[in-house]
Amino acid sequence: MAVVECSAPDCAFKTDDVSEALAIALLTNHGLAHQRAPYVATDPMLAPAPQGPNLDCPRVDVGVSIEEWNVFIRRWEVFRSRSGIGNAQAPFQLFQCAGPELGDSLLKANATVASGSLPDLITAVGFMTRTYAGRCWGPLTF
Ligand SMILES: [Zn+2]
Repeated sequence: MAVVECSAPDCAFKTDDVSEALAIALLTNHGLAHQRAPYVATDPMLAPAPQGPNLDCPRVDVGVSIEEWNVFIRRWEVFRSRSGIGNAQAPFQLFQCAGPELGDSLLKANATVASGSLPDLITAVGFMTRTYAGRCWGPLTF
């Protein structure tokens, strides 16, 4: 039986008095905790979202009417503010709202669409949605 102490500085971990094989396994497993880089939220955009019930991402797909599109944009703004989504994550998050057909179409049109700017993506999503709707909405305003 053996008690093995962690060799990392400032670490008080030691195994119970167990067999040598188990002690080594425990220490190896414990050692993984020292390998993870400490998470430092220096970017305010990475700050945790405000507490509250998780909202579902609003969905939009090709062929919606302008009324449905306007509702989607309003729901997206609520979802974004309630979820604490910063500018850096917004395009990616908005892309996640796209239904499968819309998402595919956006990616075919622009493979890096989800990493561009949010206004560009909203314009692209709106354009794609409107195009597939097969009717003219008139000028889009955001
Ligand atoms: Zn340790």
